[in-house]
Amino acid sequence: MRRVVVVGVALGLLVGLTAACRGPRSGEHTVVASFYPLYFIAEEVAGRYNDIVDLTPPGVEPHEYELTVRQVAQIDLAKVGFYEGGVAPSVDQAMTNDSPDHALDVTSVVHLAAPAAGSGIESTSDQKDPHFWQDPTLMAEATHAFAETMAEADPAHAAYYRRRALRLTQQLVDLDEDYRRTLRSCRIDTVVVSHDAFEYLARRYGVDVVPIAGLEPDAEPSLQRLHDLSTLIRARGVTTVFFETLASPALARSLAGDLGIRAAVLDPIEGLSADQPHATYLTLMRQNLAALAKAGDCS
Ligand SMILES: [Zn+2]
Repeated sequence: MRRVVVVGVALGLLVGLTAACRGPRSGEHTVVASFYPLYFIAEEVAGRYNDIVDLTPPGVEPHEYELTVRQVAQIDLAKVGFYEGGVAPSVDQAMTNDSPDHALDVTSVVHLAAPAAGSGIESTSDQKDPHFWQDPTLMAEATHAFAETMAEADPAHAAYYRRRALRLTQQLVDLDEDYRRTLRSCRIDTVVVSHDAFEYLARRYGVDVVPIAGLEPDAEPSLQRLHDLSTLIRARGVTTVFFETLASPALARSLAGDLGIRAAVLDPIEGLSADQPHATYLTLMRQNLAALAKAGDCS
């Protein structure tokens, strides 16, 4: 009797395992992207033939995002995983341990910079600045690499993925050109932002970005830091303090209020907020450019 039960359990296990290996049909054409800018690339390049999943829900910011159990299973079953190592440990772990058939860590193709020196931010020496998507030319590099990963994962549609990547690359080149032209001559080239998400933009377009807080949106600045910022804002004639969509605007607003200058939105584009269903990376980058041009009095 006992033996029969054991065999029964073993058979059940075997059936279960076989099912797990084969995977449900839904995983075969699933691409999981760890947060919005990568989701945007995946959707543009591969959305026609695949279900693209953004692991970070709308309105949530991706730093230190913790995956749900269901999402870990989803990653395990996916055909392709697209993520940025170092942003969220639980994503890194799932992408390497429960790996999808093909996983692309964008940091293997985009060279990440160290956090800006002198930004008033304490950072460990090996910490990299993850916000590369604020430089459209780095987005183009990520797009190319993603298309190659898709071509390998789904050779039948390789030509399509490469064609879509070329199209997106052209849009990114145009965006880069607009940023360069607009930000070339601004009366004020100091940009005060709530969190340090804009260093790649600063480097590429020659603006001086001064963050109130650190690389992660919830870091609290010291009183000394706020005092230094006020001094700098007055000295350079800064007109606007920028806050962002996903983190609390309270700090930037109160700083702007104290100094009698404007507070406006500059979107780090780490995720879409729930009230902007039609926004894309490209439209948000253009909104940011308009806001920067207004604040900086760019001709
Ligand atoms: Zn950030």
